[in-house]
Amino acid sequence: MALQRVGDVLASTFLSEGKLVREFEACLSTDLGLLHPAALNSGTSALHLALEVAGIGRGDEVILAPQTFIASALTVVQTGATPVFADIQYETGNIDPTNIEHRITARTKAIMAVHWGGYPCDLAEIQAIADRYGLVVIEDAAHAPGATYQGRAIGSISDYTCFSFQAIKHLTTGDGGALCARDPEKAYEVFRRRWFGIDRASSPVSELGEREYDLTDIGYKYHLSDFAAALGLANLEGFGERMLRRRALVRRYQDGLQNVTGLTHFVHQPDRESAHWLFGFHVADRLQFVRRLKASGIASSVVHDGIDHNSLFGGKRSELTQQRRFDQTQIHIPMHDELTSEQVDYIIHTIRQGW
Ligand SMILES: *Cc1c(COP(=O)(O)O)cnc(C)c1O
Repeated sequence: MALQRVGDVLASTFLSEGKLVREFEACLSTDLGLLHPAALNSGTSALHLALEVAGIGRGDEVILAPQTFIASALTVVQTGATPVFADIQYETGNIDPTNIEHRITARTKAIMAVHWGGYPCDLAEIQAIADRYGLVVIEDAAHAPGATYQGRAIGSISDYTCFSFQAIKHLTTGDGGALCARDPEKAYEVFRRRWFGIDRASSPVSELGEREYDLTDIGYKYHLSDFAAALGLANLEGFGERMLRRRALVRRYQDGLQNVTGLTHFVHQPDRESAHWLFGFHVADRLQFVRRLKASGIASSVVHDGIDHNSLFGGKRSELTQQRRFDQTQIHIPMHDELTSEQVDYIIHTIRQGW
């Protein structure tokens, strides 16, 4: 299906942003419930453009948790602003809403909420803080397409929501992303500034063949190409069923891994549904755990130590006690579309034997 769709685009010779990007965006709205999704060439572009359209720049501060990929904080630095790290909830890996307020200064402009592994952050609590201090909320939903929070789709809730469709994410265009701005005027800015800052719809091409426009601010070359959108459209087919399957596998893991000595599950609240990009938990004797699984042919890995340790972001903060605990004990075991129930049972059986 993907081969057919991409082949059609190549045969059409129209490779850049065109009708397949529009079709992909329409499907993101109807299939996943995203609001005003603008398809972009990466999740990193989505984060950067969200910050730019939100007006964040030099001298500003953005509060986020370190349990993420460096792109979240790197894009803040790219705008000239400073990432300010808040602690996480050890139980979820997400930003702890009770650890935000005392970090707010006159320079704070936004809170960035990363849905770790696809599990939605406490958005109501975060939005309440944002409302109190007049801050923008930006969701890094790179792991969370298909997740819901209090019955609403991730991508329809906060001021800005950023998705990644990079190759290892569970909805992919090879490389790509999407940015949803809730406010229609901001959404228009996203669409204009993803392509150099030129509004193609209202910049007519003259008789001489030259597009007429006046550039008024900085735009970017962040649009998606049609052949990448073709991959995305192919990948959206069956996405709902694949999510159901992931949820069933997660339940199987959770049921099978009850009461295992040395293993502590992450907490899942009933008011939200994770996209389950990852399946992780905390373990004691982690290196021993990894070796034991490896000896049985099972991959397990740490996914991102707290990113604050990077020199660019100022180095490791010992005061982030829950992040430091998380760094010591988090581990993730296989979760992907090809995973079978039998493999899950084998992994459960292996872990239950101890390490
Ligand atoms: C993958 C990822 C990104 C970056 O997305 P790209 O599409 O690779 O640019 C940003 N944030 C998080 C949490 C990610 O996992």
